[in-house]
Formats: sequence, C-alpha cells, structure tokens
Amino acid sequence: MANPSLKIRLFPRAETTVRAGHPWVFAESVKSTNRPGEPGELAVVYDRRDRFLAVGFWDPESPIPLRIIHSGAPEKIDRGWWLDRARACRDRRSGFGPDTTGYRCINGDSEGFPGLVADRYDDTLVVKLYSAAWVSRWAEIESILREVFEPRYLVRRVARNLADLDEGFVGQAGQEVVVFSENGLRFEAAVRHGQKTGFFLDQRDNRARVEQLAEGRDVLNVFSFSGGFSVYAARGGASSVTDLDISAHALESAGRNFELNPEVSVKREAVQADAFAWMAETTGRWDLIVTDPPSLAKREREKAGALKAYRKLNADAIRHLRPGGVLVAASCSAHVRAAEFLALMREEARRSGRPWRELWTSGHAADHPPGFAEAEYLKAIAIELG
Ligand code: SAH
Repeated sequence: MANPSLKIRLFPRAETTVRAGHPWVFAESVKSTNRPGEPGELAVVYDRRDRFLAVGFWDPESPIPLRIIHSGAPEKIDRGWWLDRARACRDRRSGFGPDTTGYRCINGDSEGFPGLVADRYDDTLVVKLYSAAWVSRWAEIESILREVFEPRYLVRRVARNLADLDEGFVGQAGQEVVVFSENGLRFEAAVRHGQKTGFFLDQRDNRARVEQLAEGRDVLNVFSFSGGFSVYAARGGASSVTDLDISAHALESAGRNFELNPEVSVKREAVQADAFAWMAETTGRWDLIVTDPPSLAKREREKAGALKAYRKLNADAIRHLRPGGVLVAASCSAHVRAAEFLALMREEARRSGRPWRELWTSGHAADHPPGFAEAEYLKAIAIELG
C-alpha cells in the first residue's frame, strides 16, 4: 500500500479542482491510467509535469472513479495517517454533551473518508460504507474507529449497491434499535434496518428551530419519518401534532418516540398516506407545517421533476396554513441547489397572493460539515404567511 502502482493522469481542469481540494474526479476528467485498476485500490495522481498531485480511492465502474483522500505533498497513507484523520473528526465534535448523544462522527467525502459515514447513537457507532474501498480495508478502519470513538458496540452496514460484497451487517444481537438523546429528548434509531444509519441527524438544528415556532400551534409534519419534528414541536408547546408518512414502520416508530418522552404530552394523530396526494386533497388547516420529503432528485435528469414536485407540495402546504401560520420547507435533493430551492419557495409564497415574511434559512447541522459544493444537500426555509 505504501507504494501504490496505479497511476492516473487528469485533464488540466480536473488537476486544478483537485489542487483546490475538491475530492471528486469524474470519469470524463480521467485522461489516462497505466492499467485498469481494481475497485478500492489506492491510485496516485501525477500532474502534467509528472509531479505528485494527489492520492485517492479508485473505482473504475463508478461515475466518480476517483475520490481523493489527500493532495499536496506526498504522504505515506498508513494506519497512523488514518488514525490522525479520525482523531481530527473526533476533535471537531468535542462540543456534544450528555444532552445530545446522537451525532455524526465522520461525514464521508467532506472529511476525507470517501464513502464512509459514522454516526454515534449513545454507545453504539454505526458505520455505513458506500464504497468498496472500505470493505477490503475493514479490519484496519474498524480498529481505528474503536480506538478513536470508543464505542461499546460497533455496527457496520453497507450501501445497497455493495450488498453483494458483504453480508451487510456486523453487530451485536439485540442491537437493532438504540435509544439516544438529542437536545435532551429521547429517540430510537433503527441502526440495522432504518434509513441512512437509523435516524436523520442532519435535521437536528432545524428540529430545534421548529420547537421555537410551535407554541400554541396545530402542527402538521409531512414526511414525518419517526416523528422528530413532532416531538420537538410538542416540547415547544404545540396544541396538536399530526404525523404524515407513507410508512407504517415510520409512524410506529414516531409513536414509540413519543412514549420515550413522557414529559412531552400533546394531542397526536398519525396518518399513513402518500403525502403528495393527501396534501392535494385534505381540507384540514394548520398553524405550522413542515415538509421534508426524501430526495426527489438523485440524478441530474430527475431535477426538473423534483422542482415541480416541491412547487406543488409546498403550494398545497401554503393553502392549508391558517393566517399567521408558518411553513418550514426542507429539501435534501443534492441536485437541487440551495439558491434554486429557496428561490422556488419565495416564488410560491408570492404566488399565494398572501402577505409573507421569511423567518430564516438553514442547512445541515454542524456535525455534517459540507466540504465542497456538491455535499451541501440539505437546505430549509421558514416562511410566515399572513
Ligand atoms: N423529517 C424526517 C425525515 C424524513 S425522511 C426527520 O426529521 O426525521 C423521508 C420520509 O418520507 C420517510 O419516512 C419515508 O417513509 C417518507 N416517504 C417517502 N415517500 C413518501 C410519500 N410518497 N408519502 C409520504 N411519505 C413518504
């Protein structure tokens, strides 16, 4: 590994972006390789003057065949090197206390671990691998993660596209669901079967903002998943909360999350339905509506459809808001940029013909640092309608 023999050359523009610290190299930017290379192999990039430029993980089948782990002066990529990098991730998150025991420890490509995400839920570390490179390096990375983050339990999951490489789950029996704290509230994370690593940690700060808006309000949580926004709204003094999700599992989990917080009592309703259709048809009225759909554009060509769906969904939500009500609209579609989504939302507010006021916009919680533009997938806006 110290002397990797796979050599890559890039076209000039890609050399510039890599030099600037961007971790992704797209297939069309690769000028040549000395041999095809294996998935997960370490590749060294040389610039046009034959100088070391960077080193990264090679995955010949991927649209992003090279993911940079280091650029600048040559360095030996060994256990100590990864250990330092993991410690840096840990030190960046030293601010979390006992009130918040669920947070992201390693944010993938943005923090120099391409295709590896590690989320802590209390004493369990859930590691999700999106790249074959980690499957072959597992023994080393597991020992590093244990040393740095000191979890009692470690769960490994692999993304669906890698499932044939791996049994997909390594963990302790009985560790399928873990209870953790977030800003003093308790939640369960389905660390084995749940979406992502079991919970949407990236919305933590937005949940806290919703809590601040909830006092005395009837709240509709559209795409509620396990009720995160609703539990916060309840603590914030909401008069009622309605969870709307297509998944019975998600709604059951929301019910359990309310039970985990007995001090938070609120009138609660759960609706299992397709949210797009339900929002078009309902005659209900609310004072605070949160819309947080799953990614609607996983590929660039899905973007136009996604924008249309956001428009329709949020126009419906605005119609269901009582005077003085607030809409909190979120988007996690990576291909829809923040500026575009925010502009669309402001336009829908204007088109409603009602007076409106923007309260805030936001992105990811701080434990999800986006290292580069494409990693900024989450954006949200709060708009008050007269
Ligand atoms: N707001 C949540 C995360 C939402 S994740 C939180 O803060 O934790 C997206 C959710 O949308 C998932 O729970 C999924 O089951 C649900 N979903 C996906 N498609 C849907 C549809 N057509 N109608 C309603 N819910 C849907």
